[in-house]
Amino acid sequence: MSAHLDLDESVPGVADDGVWLTCIECGERFAPFDAIRYTCDDCDGLLEVRYADLPTWDDFGGASTPESGPYGVWRYSDALPFESGVSLPEGGTPLHHVPRLEDETGVATLRVKHEGMNPTGSFKDRGMTVGVRVAQAVGVDRLACASTGNTSAALAAYGARAGLETLVLLPAGKVAEGKVAQASLHGARILEVDGNFDRCLDIVQDLAARGEVYLLNSLNPFRLEGQKTIGLEIMERFRADEGTYPDRIVLPVGNAGNTAALYKCFRELRRAGAIDADEVPKLTGVQAEGSAPMVEAIENGTDGIRRWEDVETRATAIRIGNPVNAPKALPGIRETGGTAVAVSDEAITDAQRALAAEGVGVEPASAASLAGLRKLRAEGRVDPDEDVVCLTTGHLLKDPQAAYEAGSDPEPVPADTDAVLDHLAE
Ligand SMILES: *Cc1c(COP(=O)(O)O)cnc(C)c1O
Ligand SMILES: [Zn+2]
Repeated sequence: MSAHLDLDESVPGVADDGVWLTCIECGERFAPFDAIRYTCDDCDGLLEVRYADLPTWDDFGGASTPESGPYGVWRYSDALPFESGVSLPEGGTPLHHVPRLEDETGVATLRVKHEGMNPTGSFKDRGMTVGVRVAQAVGVDRLACASTGNTSAALAAYGARAGLETLVLLPAGKVAEGKVAQASLHGARILEVDGNFDRCLDIVQDLAARGEVYLLNSLNPFRLEGQKTIGLEIMERFRADEGTYPDRIVLPVGNAGNTAALYKCFRELRRAGAIDADEVPKLTGVQAEGSAPMVEAIENGTDGIRRWEDVETRATAIRIGNPVNAPKALPGIRETGGTAVAVSDEAITDAQRALAAEGVGVEPASAASLAGLRKLRAEGRVDPDEDVVCLTTGHLLKDPQAAYEAGSDPEPVPADTDAVLDHLAE
């Protein structure tokens, strides 16, 4: 574990509740809710939420509230900065068995954690329930994000629930239909930017710096606190079902927020003594070939990433050339012994069909995880004795166009039973 990401620091004098923010680059600490900041005042490094006390498995047992229900993000409130938040509720998603894909990929165990089953259809809800709670704590009234689609859908829904104004910046023509429809109906003001996602994020960061909006992209460290519950759920459920923790978690990578959140989850479990060093799953990131700056950095062994100006892929949710959480996520991939791999759009669509054939309906970006696992198995970089979880990040209905194109065409028939039987016999 690299020094700058080591969680082991003494209790600081900056927070009452044992919660504070630490800069991952220079180690400076800040009180969490006295001012709005997204990066370090001193060096502009990424901030991370830290806790004086970290919970272990027993602390989570059965916690539930009427609002959050028995399973879900707030079950893990001992690992979060608040007891509860604006909830729809989120989390508690299935960890599917996929026996045919398990056979086909030839690993010991394959399970699929389907984050498309969240209230707005993606894991972004987990981050948003915490992020909007923080927005209430710091007392802002206008929330904003740049988005490839799912963040905007989640922000619009959670902002609406909280009665706050929401503004979303989307790359014009590059967001799947279902996601724009959600943001629109939940009442977000939608700005279609003539530029890619990375430009949208540049602009919304400027707006936030000028105090115009509260930024709820995954640069906001509180988003990642909610998202780390994906890791807690996987670890708890997998161990309950399989008697062990997974060896590897394979996930699609866009801004690398989830990769960073899972890594933080494992470090906190380690520090709490809940898992051993050899029980940390290998974080394995998958990107589309046309949008793979993280894969490039892992392959070249560089500390930072090179911003890709022109990115293209059918998996629009991960069409990102400048992953803001790379400084948190690259160490996560390396220090867990994981890797990163790029897959073609064709392989993504194939994987989307294969998941659908198991009854698991996902959007293209989500299928990148399975496509990546298939490629790594074919190259012998994942062993046959591994227990693997693939994360599927968003629901099939997010991108109906992609689903139509990947699926079979409807067959027109006359409104007559004999004609239908004739057609079926053809
Ligand atoms: C946001 C998103 C991703 C990318 O997640 P990061 O945390 O930004 O790496 C992947 N898939 C879907 C469906 C998403 O909405
Ligand atoms: Zn700093």
